[in-house]
Amino acid sequence: SELSTNPTGAAGTADPTHLTDQVAIQITNMNKWYGAFHVLRDINLTVREGERIVIAGPSGSGKSTLIRCINRLEEHQSGQIVVDGIELTSDLKNIDKIRREVGMVFQHFNLFPHLTILENCTLAPIWVRKVPRREAEETAMHFLEKVKIPEQANKYPGQLSGGQQQRVAIARSLCMKPRIMLFDEPTSALDPEMIKEVLDTMIELAHDGMTMLCVTHEMGFARQVADRVIFMDQGQIVEQNEPEEFFNNPQSERTKLFLSQIL
Ligand code: ADP
Ligand code: MG
Repeated sequence: SELSTNPTGAAGTADPTHLTDQVAIQITNMNKWYGAFHVLRDINLTVREGERIVIAGPSGSGKSTLIRCINRLEEHQSGQIVVDGIELTSDLKNIDKIRREVGMVFQHFNLFPHLTILENCTLAPIWVRKVPRREAEETAMHFLEKVKIPEQANKYPGQLSGGQQQRVAIARSLCMKPRIMLFDEPTSALDPEMIKEVLDTMIELAHDGMTMLCVTHEMGFARQVADRVIFMDQGQIVEQNEPEEFFNNPQSERTKLFLSQIL
């Protein structure tokens, strides 16, 4: 599950050859409530290995809740979520196995401020995965090079720009060698001039063949990278399509309204 180079993994809908027949995530008739509030309604979603999905939709539509259910940061109440063949239940062993496969990057980078960049990247591999320190540091440097900030390894998060910190957060996640990456509005807390460097990192990850679910309002990114755009509203998947169709020929009124507001 090493972040591998996939020669056929060119981005864009014109070339879907990076898709495999393997199912990475299968969500079936899934529902979730927060107390009495029905936040996710009958979600059905199949994600293939290598597939890149952008999740869009108005604020409060359930996008964060949906991706947080995939690594059990939130619990669903009915239906099924299967990740890499493992069903997500209250069984802690399964939850642990799935969390090993799934990396997550948040809007706020959540780096440990009192640890260096390198230490942020090696902490979990060393203490959770029991990787020898030397090996963990080599892996960390590999991914810090990948996100183009190896020279920052010995600095502290507070000494880095927001864009650099977010790239560290991505590198830190990759150090756990996930097969699937979840992004929850990774650029929405960043100043405009830093958005591109983070999106470029994500584009490169896509080219490497990573299975990705990205909640983002960056529709340029969606057009360039996504195999499929999923539109959510009021806890439901209202519409999904490849980017060209999604943007040029939206089907539902809610999608049209949303696109008219953001484009
Ligand atoms: P989005 O990411 O699309 O903005 P969220 O998944 O964060 O939407 O939230 C969906 C809905 O669930 C919103 O109405 C939000 O207020 C509500 N919600 C989110 N988290 C909680 C929570 N922990 N408890 C109760 N309601 C929540
Ligand atoms: Mg959200």
